[in-house]
Amino acid sequence: MKVVVAARLSQFGDGKTGLDSQEREVLIWARTHGHEIMGVALDFKSGKSDLWERPNLRKWVTEQDFLCQYDALVALKVDRLTRADDEGVDRLKKWARDNHKTIVITSADVRFPSEGMEGVRWDMYIRMAHQEWLDIRERYGRMQSVKHDAGSIVGRAPWGYEIIRLPDGRKMIEPTPDGREWVPKIFGWVAEGKTAAKVAEMLTDAKVRTSQGLTRWHEASVATMIKRPTYSGMRARKGRTALECEPLVSRALQDKAIAKLAARARLGPSGRTQPKALLAKLKCGHPDCPGEGDWPMYRAAGGKWYRCTGKGPQRKGCGNPMVPLEEADNLVLYASGYWDSKPYIAQRFVSGNDAGIRLERLRAEMAEAVRLAPADQIMDITTGYMERIAALEAEGSILPHWEDVETGETEGEHLRSLDLDGQREYLGRKDIKAWKDAEGRTCITIDGVLARTGGPTLIAEVADQNR
Ligand SMILES: [Zn+2]
Repeated sequence: MKVVVAARLSQFGDGKTGLDSQEREVLIWARTHGHEIMGVALDFKSGKSDLWERPNLRKWVTEQDFLCQYDALVALKVDRLTRADDEGVDRLKKWARDNHKTIVITSADVRFPSEGMEGVRWDMYIRMAHQEWLDIRERYGRMQSVKHDAGSIVGRAPWGYEIIRLPDGRKMIEPTPDGREWVPKIFGWVAEGKTAAKVAEMLTDAKVRTSQGLTRWHEASVATMIKRPTYSGMRARKGRTALECEPLVSRALQDKAIAKLAARARLGPSGRTQPKALLAKLKCGHPDCPGEGDWPMYRAAGGKWYRCTGKGPQRKGCGNPMVPLEEADNLVLYASGYWDSKPYIAQRFVSGNDAGIRLERLRAEMAEAVRLAPADQIMDITTGYMERIAALEAEGSILPHWEDVETGETEGEHLRSLDLDGQREYLGRKDIKAWKDAEGRTCITIDGVLARTGGPTLIAEVADQNR
């Protein structure tokens, strides 16, 4: 493997700078493992900055000329690479994924990305490194307060859970049968693109009771539910989170649902008073438009037309004729249905088997236990968890995940099967331009493929020509 080593520079007593003996071990590790060292980035310790903020590491992690020279970034400890807190490590992982790099931490013999037991070791190491990064006194202070309130919950249970009392007197929450049945459905619907309003309507129709025992569900309660960490097993308590309840959905499903809601919020208010335009991200394609296909169009004149908006000093648009909204919308639907014959691949959430769900919980639980444990107990705690994790893996655990499924539909058929919101989102991912040509015909391009009004024959001709 071709590697780049990131190491920490020290200032020695005699005023010289260099690598101390610990840091030199990384270089020895690389050589004895037969790796080719393509570069060594030496920086003074700056535990609070990200990898691209470190003066000598920077070029290796941001510039293409350097990025293409190696496969793995190697360091003694994670803080040699990035801030050793959750956000810093998340950004490091994202960087590694985006750039197809492996990260190797030699002191702990862990790497990212890695699967199974190796992945468990990486998670555990990150928690330990985080621990070191925190101020020691603050850490012990927090442990004390954790012991004090002994894991009892405060406040009301969210919808789908109820408060139960354990034999030792502590209060916990546990899913209700309704929660078990509906919560995974609700998150699944939102994740696949249904609006919070639509989900509220479906729950109302299915006569599911709200926490107040009412039959009518509101959009806002669905949206609040999606964002609540309890549903994936994390319950907030006194400014920190603790794993203390049974998750009803996986963290991955919740993240996806939250992302969908956020994406919708960016599309604009979901008020139903005026029907939304189909083409939320339409651009002006008029040949005389100074925007050269890059200026947005918006709804004008009572919502019946799309008009070029312009940009910068030309906020009044390009002055070319407006495009009739209904004609453009229909043309886009017709045209994409006509020649968009690629098979439509949907993403399906696989909830995992029982062992997989227990494994995921166990991993989260272990990370939390390791985070809270005094340093001298970490190994014992981990060994106990490792045995249970290995047993679940041997059982053939399947973790919750998303997978691609063939639907039998073409992309065009899929588009026509969606409701307006779904269609808007789908078309929002395409590059669509519209304009009126010199003969007064409405023209559109979808990802560069042209169609215009003037009868089915003309569309057919254009379509053939574009095949
Ligand atoms: Zn224009």
